[in-house]
Amino acid sequence: MSKQFDVIVIGAGPGGYIAAIRAAQLGFNVACIDEWKNENGGPAPGGTCTNVGCIPSKALLQSSEHFEHARLHFADHGISTGEVAMDVQKMIARKDAIVKQNNDGILYLFKKNKVTFFHGRGSFVKAADGGYEIRVAGKEEQTLTAKQIVIATGSNARALPGVPFDEVNVLSNDGALRVGATPKKLGLIGAGVIGLEMGSVWRRLGAEVTVLEGMDKFLAAVDEQIAKEAKKAFDKQGLKIEMGVKIGEVQVSDQGVNVNYTDAKGEAQTLSVDKLIVSIGRTANTIGLNAEAVGLALDERGAIVVDDDCKTNLPGVWAVGDVVRGPMLAHKAEEEGVAVAERIAGQHGHVNFATVPWVIYTSPEIAWVGRTEQQLKADGVKYKAGTFPFLANGRARALGDTTGMVKFLADAETDEILGVHMVGPVVSELISEAVVAMEFKASSEDIARICHAHPSLSEATKEAALAVDKRTLNF
Ligand code: FAD
Repeated sequence: MSKQFDVIVIGAGPGGYIAAIRAAQLGFNVACIDEWKNENGGPAPGGTCTNVGCIPSKALLQSSEHFEHARLHFADHGISTGEVAMDVQKMIARKDAIVKQNNDGILYLFKKNKVTFFHGRGSFVKAADGGYEIRVAGKEEQTLTAKQIVIATGSNARALPGVPFDEVNVLSNDGALRVGATPKKLGLIGAGVIGLEMGSVWRRLGAEVTVLEGMDKFLAAVDEQIAKEAKKAFDKQGLKIEMGVKIGEVQVSDQGVNVNYTDAKGEAQTLSVDKLIVSIGRTANTIGLNAEAVGLALDERGAIVVDDDCKTNLPGVWAVGDVVRGPMLAHKAEEEGVAVAERIAGQHGHVNFATVPWVIYTSPEIAWVGRTEQQLKADGVKYKAGTFPFLANGRARALGDTTGMVKFLADAETDEILGVHMVGPVVSELISEAVVAMEFKASSEDIARICHAHPSLSEATKEAALAVDKRTLNF
């Protein structure tokens, strides 16, 4: 006998669990299926984000930042310590405890919202009436049916061709978050968000880190001026980043990993490291869904094809998050999850892709929303730019972290904000003001006229808005 629901969600990452909760809030009887197992084989909802992504990476970034502050900056404040040492195992255990708190939190939220959780793999099965059912393969086999199905099965790390992840020497994001001791030499392939964050953690803990990147331009998606400023800071920290390389053969042995590559000058090189993290992108995950049996359309990259409303080609089947087009970001997945639940309820759920913020949690942090200067030029848009350095911000000086700047881009005629770009301390938080401003179609003058607390880093945002009209007050 199959169990009937109004809505079935497959996947309990940020896209899936949020869709399930929102659908339940809207009065539906909801099932959510997720196969992730914790170390005891029990459920670990939260997906990539909670288990091996956003949350554990930020936990390690925080620990490693404390370590670096204690080692390099405490003395400036008059604090003396003995020798500062890092217990990597303890750091990892703390990270694991934070992950577990989040797993448990989601199970609690399911209970609170009366979402029925199934632990196991969900896959489509053709039903006798020509429709489909969802089979859950867990401790026991169960069959579920619903008129509305939301697929939120996320993504997996892409491996280098012929070099599978062994999670001992060649690490994906999963293994990179579980390294038991600081490697002496760490190699990273891919200078994207995940690569830079992971590289930062292990560099701060004392590893000699080399990042190899195929593109010629550093952080090509980031505003050039901001990317340059960030690169300067990373160089100063000793993070070695080689651009424009071509990866050749990778040899893995008990002793470590040799990466043969051609450098930007066309010369053959070998990088020998103890561990190699490969972060060259992620692929949509439809493994085990049995998508082909029911004719679910995938694009050439394996992502589920959806329209602007996240509808797939199958009636009553929706897909959200990393498994569909668009940025692979947890908050994008969440917004799509909410919007789909509301559309199922006949409401007008919406996601504004133009105001999705991006953050790279390195030190300095990098954050942006809207278009970059190079995109505006390519689009032929006339714009005005204003920048303000953290060097001239009192709070940044008190913090002892004056790297970076805030940059505003506004329409030359209407002054509407078109993009805000930041590199510096805690800009992951500062970017929210810019997102709200752009969502409300604010002008740079609007931000310039808003009273900002003193002393605060947010004054750099106000000053950058003033800079658009060349009337900064503190620089
Ligand atoms: P996922 O989180 O991948 O969840 C999918 C879930 O579906 C998983 O639990 C999986 O087990 C389950 N599943 C798959 N197939 C089935 C099936 N057939 N049956 C049952 N269950 C199934 N994003 C940010 O916004 N900010 C960050 O700081 C950030 N940091 C990151 C750091 C790292 C190291 C990585 C790897 C990613 C990071 N991301 C970050 C990206 C973010 O993790 C993803 O965008 C987000 O998790 C996508 O959510 P999702 O719900 O689409 O999929």
